[in-house]
Amino acid sequence: MMQFSGKSVYKGIVLGPAAVLGKEEGPVRRSKIEDAQAEIGRVGAAGEQAKEQLQALYDKAVKEVGEASAAIFEVHQMMLEDDDYLDSIHNMIRTEMVNAEYAVAVTGDNFSEMFAAMDDDYMKARAADVKDISNRLIRILEGRGEADLTSMEPAVIVADDLSPSETVQMDKEKILAFVTVHGSTNSHTAILARMMNIPALIGVPLELDKIRTGMIAVVDGFEGTVTFEPDEALLKSAREKMEEEQEKLRLLDDLKGKENVTPGGRKINLYANIGSVSDVGYVLENDAGGIGLFRSEFLYLGRDSFPTEEEQFQAYRQVAQTMAGKKVIIRTLDIGADKQVDYFSLGQEENPAMGYRAIRICLKQPDIFKTQLRALFRATMYGNISIMYPMITSVEEVEKIFKIVKEVREELDAAEIPYHDPEQGIMIETPAAVMISDELAELVDFFSIGTNDLTQYTLAVDRQNEKLDDFYDPHHKAILRMIRMVVDNAHKHGKWAGICGELGADLELTEEFVRMGLDELSVAPSMILKIRKKVREMPLL
Ligand code: PEP
Ligand code: MG
Repeated sequence: MMQFSGKSVYKGIVLGPAAVLGKEEGPVRRSKIEDAQAEIGRVGAAGEQAKEQLQALYDKAVKEVGEASAAIFEVHQMMLEDDDYLDSIHNMIRTEMVNAEYAVAVTGDNFSEMFAAMDDDYMKARAADVKDISNRLIRILEGRGEADLTSMEPAVIVADDLSPSETVQMDKEKILAFVTVHGSTNSHTAILARMMNIPALIGVPLELDKIRTGMIAVVDGFEGTVTFEPDEALLKSAREKMEEEQEKLRLLDDLKGKENVTPGGRKINLYANIGSVSDVGYVLENDAGGIGLFRSEFLYLGRDSFPTEEEQFQAYRQVAQTMAGKKVIIRTLDIGADKQVDYFSLGQEENPAMGYRAIRICLKQPDIFKTQLRALFRATMYGNISIMYPMITSVEEVEKIFKIVKEVREELDAAEIPYHDPEQGIMIETPAAVMISDELAELVDFFSIGTNDLTQYTLAVDRQNEKLDDFYDPHHKAILRMIRMVVDNAHKHGKWAGICGELGADLELTEEFVRMGLDELSVAPSMILKIRKKVREMPLL
């Protein structure tokens, strides 16, 4: 039996087999070789194996997501046969007498940089592909397995760390829990765990090579522990706890269909946060009144090129239709910072959280923004969609957004494409937006307070930095005063205000939020009924 402790980001308990995801290897080592021909032979054999893997991925993807989305695996197969690419690798092995892994890594980087610098958008997007095939070759050459996040059995995911693009590729039905060595409580993996009602432990001091895929694990989010190969006594108590949990959840079920109203008659809207179309199931299951935050950037993650207007339209339409007239607030692209996507070619930044991200990208690259806006406006015909803009710091940004929105509407009018007039609001997640919320309230229809970023920017604490978890205090007086100020300014102008950051789900603050007059809390679907219970039992209101 091996037991480790970590920080729990969702209180729940599960029992199941572990699936260990390979640790990201360090840079590829350069070594001298004697026999260039043999090394070139290794590249050839690895190429054949890579093509077989890609064919299997293609066949699976055709069945699951259709031919158009599977085509990327065919492109990768063709790239593996590209003469320029192979010549460069062979040449390097012959002239520098270096190992195959190193030659592939350097060629991959060179080609990827060359593609990224091209003007043509299609060629630019190939930069990520060439990196991808090179990494696949290196993994094979180094004898590491396929990093396949899509085809596993239900398991406790054990990893060094997980990026949003890794989690997005996983089949959520098959994740029982997350256990990671690194990661912060505010990371998107933690957010995902809360959304899916699954236990997650981060900052667990594991030696990954001691844990094998298939080992039985108990993840106890109440105690903050994970136990591999548990003994009989622990298994028995885990099973008992799991049953108790099930019973509590059954009691919460009785609250479905009931209003979020205090005994004194004060009401609050409880909406859910989602990251993808498939999350709508959790929203309905937990009886949320609407969707208060659809993080649309997840449509852009875990792929090699921009989602087209049509792909986005289909996603937004489907969510709006499934929610059948209930409010669906879709936030425009919030890429950057921890949500990195190769094909955006954002480049390295010293300080990405304060860098080129979210609305800044949309205002600087209006083509990307307009594609999304067109898809959103078209989807307004299919339900009750509102649009929300992230990371606002000034009145001028909102004016620029509305100018672009006007152009989009004119283009749609000219093409006789119908749309409804959606509510348009902004996220309040910078101290600047809080301080000018009186002016901003005149311009927009609603505010939704992003406490995750607001806390990071107000307290100067990087939300991704696990060393700072103790300093990341969303209960800080400064944050609570800011929330009150935003609500008051919204109400002065007849607008509504909600919270869509993680703090909205903090049961210790629910009463205070109702007193402040917040109109809405948008939280992980798993928290809806717990907050409803709290609201309905509030003594004084
Ligand atoms: C926030 O910052 O509080 C928020 C809801 O947005 P995200 O967590 O996606 O940055
Ligand atoms: Mg944010």
